[in-house]
Order: sequence, then C-alpha cells, then structure tokens
Amino acid sequence: MAHDAQLYPADRIARAQKAAAEAGLDALLISPGPDLRYLTGYQALPLERLTCLVAPANGDPFLVVPLLEQPAAEASPVGGLGLEIVGWRETEDPYALVAGRLPVGPEGRVGVDNHMWAEKVLAFRAALPGVEQALAGEVLGALRMRKSAAEVAALREAGAAIDAVHAAVGQWLRPGRTEREVGRDIADAILAAGHETVDFVIVGSGPNGASPHHELSDRVIGAGEPVVVDIGGTMPSGYCSDSTRNYCVGEAPAEYLRAFGILLAAQTAQCESVRPGITAEQLDAVGRDLITEAGYGDRFIHRTGHGIGLETHEEPYIVSGSARPLEPGMAFSIEPGIYLPGRFGARIEDIAVCTEDGGDRLNLTPRDLVRLDG
Ligand code: ZN
Ligand code: ZN
Repeated sequence: MAHDAQLYPADRIARAQKAAAEAGLDALLISPGPDLRYLTGYQALPLERLTCLVAPANGDPFLVVPLLEQPAAEASPVGGLGLEIVGWRETEDPYALVAGRLPVGPEGRVGVDNHMWAEKVLAFRAALPGVEQALAGEVLGALRMRKSAAEVAALREAGAAIDAVHAAVGQWLRPGRTEREVGRDIADAILAAGHETVDFVIVGSGPNGASPHHELSDRVIGAGEPVVVDIGGTMPSGYCSDSTRNYCVGEAPAEYLRAFGILLAAQTAQCESVRPGITAEQLDAVGRDLITEAGYGDRFIHRTGHGIGLETHEEPYIVSGSARPLEPGMAFSIEPGIYLPGRFGARIEDIAVCTEDGGDRLNLTPRDLVRLDG
C-alpha cells in the first residue's frame, strides 16, 4: 500500500493552496519529507539537489525535480496527479527556475517546508529577494492534524502491529540479557509485524528507565527490575506507531508499585477524558494533577503527548500552555511518566484518536505492569 487514493487523495494540493491563500501566503515550497508525501503520496529522498513542490496560492502547482529524478517522480503517485513535472539540468540553477515561474513579487510571502534544509531555504531567500519566508507548517499542520477516516485506519493498523510486538516481549526480556540484546530482538519483531522501518527501540532497565529517551545500552537486566519498553516504527502506508509498556521479571520494589499504580490511574483518566472541546492543556492537567497530588509532580518531567501521523511527533502537542481544543480526527499519544533518578522510571503510552463520542485507543495490550516469568 505504497500509495492509496483514499489515504493520499488527489485534492490535497488544492486544499493546501486554499489554506495558503487564507494565511496570506503567495506560495508553498515543499521539499521531500512528510509534507510532500502528505500532499502528493510521493516518498522522495531528501538529497542535495533540489526537489520542490511549488504550490502557488493562485495558479497551477508544479514539481521541480533534478532531471535524473524525473523518471522516479513520474513513476510515483505524482504521475497520477496531473501535475506538471519540471526537470532541471545539472548545470541549471533550480532556485532561479522556481523564482522565474513563481507569481510572487518583492514584498511577497512564501511558506517554506518546516523540514527544508537550511542551505535550500537560504538559496530561495537569495533567489527571491525581498520575499518574506514563513513556515509552511503553519498551514499544513492544521490540515495534517485532522485525520481522515483512511488515515485513522492506517494508524490503527500501525497500532495493531506494535501491539503484536509488545505481546511478544516476554519471549526476549529476561534477567541476564542486556538491553541491547533484547532491543535487537524487538527491532526484528517490529519489522516482522509489518513495519517498513524501525524508528526507535527504548529498553530502559532499572535506573535507565528514569531517562525518558534512553535507548539501549549494554546494561544487564536484573531480576526484580522494572523495564520501560517504548517502541515504534513506520508502516508501508507512511503512518507511524508508538507505544510504551512496563515489564518486570520477579517482584518490583514496593515504591515502584505505588508510583506505577498512580501512573496507571492518571493515564486511564486522561484516556477517558478525551472528547471534542477539551483543550490540550486540560487533558495534560487531568493526569498531571493526579500525579502531583500523589507527590510525584516534579517527577513527571515531560508533556503528556504528541500528535502522530506521517511523523511520530507532530501537532497537536498535549502540553500545558496549549489552549487548542481537541477535534474529531486528531490522533495523539497519551504517555504520562514518573521518573526517580538513579532508581527507576515508568511510562504508559497509548495512541488515542478523538472522536465525536470520546477517545478511541489504538493500542490495546494490557497497560498494567507486565510480570514475566524468568
Ligand atoms: Zn513512545
Ligand atoms: Zn510517544
């Protein structure tokens, strides 16, 4: 399912052009990455040579590609969009080519891809003197965070794939093995479960669990140590998975069990509070207040969650200070954590989708501490 007309509908460029016009942008300049894939279905490699979708607020969009990339672009979903593909020769200046075709004068304003390389941003600045550059993400983020039914289905498929890996962690996680050994087995399983790429594997045993973005180390996992396993990958559809569960072989320390119980109550309350109209900061507070009342407020050291789609981290962020009301179709993680430096950490993470009727969780494996047999 590299390209699916429902997942990547042909009207997205037109919708982005309309949104750009409403935002006062004369054009969007989109380089290879998630925005280009969202708009066209084209999974182009980011290279030093310029590939750029040019979407004027008024006028026909076109794709500028190096001549040697043109056959690949034409064979990609772009070929089915009826979009003009403009190949540039090795000795041509592609930035001048874009500037010459772009209906924007001095005092104009263009939106550049949030992930565009700085050297390309600066080359466009030089080719379009006097034209203000803004972030295209301000326009595209608003489109991308409201998922279609097909996108939610793709995220659900990703969720089921990562759930299958969590369900099998007991095969590999044992005292005496290192985090890295366990992580290699998990990475193989992420691919075997249908992902195209492994994006991250966190196996945080004992004190390493207190570092939220710890990945893997050669630390040997001991009996009675809680282990945080946070894993994710990207499916052939382009959509990502991300889920965290907590494991222990043997009996976990009493204070860990107390903290874990509070964490589970907080995460459950947050998942049950998802509904249209609740703001991102209100949803964050639902869990943070419970954790704070239990005395661990200063141990919950990150936001509650992040949006997810073609990127693992995208809008909307579930964070204090964001008054953004949630809307049906928004998909995001709910992943509170409690971290006691030098001792242990715990995090529980599900992807949830806001629907008219409340929250719909895409990760369904048991959230309680998973007790494994040594
Ligand atoms: Zn995660
Ligand atoms: Zn996450």
